[in-house]
Amino acid sequence: MDLNLNVAKEYIRQHIDLFGGEIYTLIDDKYIDESKESSSFNDKTLNSFKTKIENCVKCSLSLTRNKFVFGSGDPNADLLLIGEAPGEEEDIKGEPFVGKSGNLLYKILKAIGYIRGKNVFITNIVKCRPPENRNPLHSEIEKCTPFLDIQINFIKPKLIVALGKVAGHTLLKKNMLIKEMRKKTHQYNKVPLIVTYHPAALLRNPSLKKDAWEDFQYIRDFMKS
Ligand code: URA
Repeated sequence: MDLNLNVAKEYIRQHIDLFGGEIYTLIDDKYIDESKESSSFNDKTLNSFKTKIENCVKCSLSLTRNKFVFGSGDPNADLLLIGEAPGEEEDIKGEPFVGKSGNLLYKILKAIGYIRGKNVFITNIVKCRPPENRNPLHSEIEKCTPFLDIQINFIKPKLIVALGKVAGHTLLKKNMLIKEMRKKTHQYNKVPLIVTYHPAALLRNPSLKKDAWEDFQYIRDFMKS
């Protein structure tokens, strides 16, 4: 079968999967850049940092966690996504976003040319699962963000995307509604920062997907600029 036809079919399937019957845009395969090699230097640095902190006992989440979820992906990624905290599946596997919301996130990322483990790094504000998936406490966030700052320093992303309210509030140091944080390019530690919905919010309320898709299109264009 013709390659272009296959590509078109894949996009349409992907969009129907993500956004129902509505197609907001067609994505060109040229956006998928698989050429970026991860530098082994940064890989080693980030890995040794992980080894150094993965037995952290700075807060009581260390008593209930199964695994410390450091984050994963390309240590040289230009795009850094930051969620809230590991959930049940993440706590078991030690990987961020491996549950239902992770599946949705990876589909959205794929639609703008990013592939899990390839050209994006994903982590959370808090590296250990809060019991019953409650929101992380201010004290837990305070103890964990220095780790995030070091990760950002190693990765040196071109853009940070905060997924959801907790990530947005922490990085902006302000309590605002998501709709007030969206559609602006903020800064975190001198790195451009964008806030969008957490994929779990999109699963709970699919009517937000249209806005989220606009945000991810903006992210795609920002990364190409
Ligand atoms: N939600 C998050 O914020 N992070 C994860 O890793 C999984 C779910």
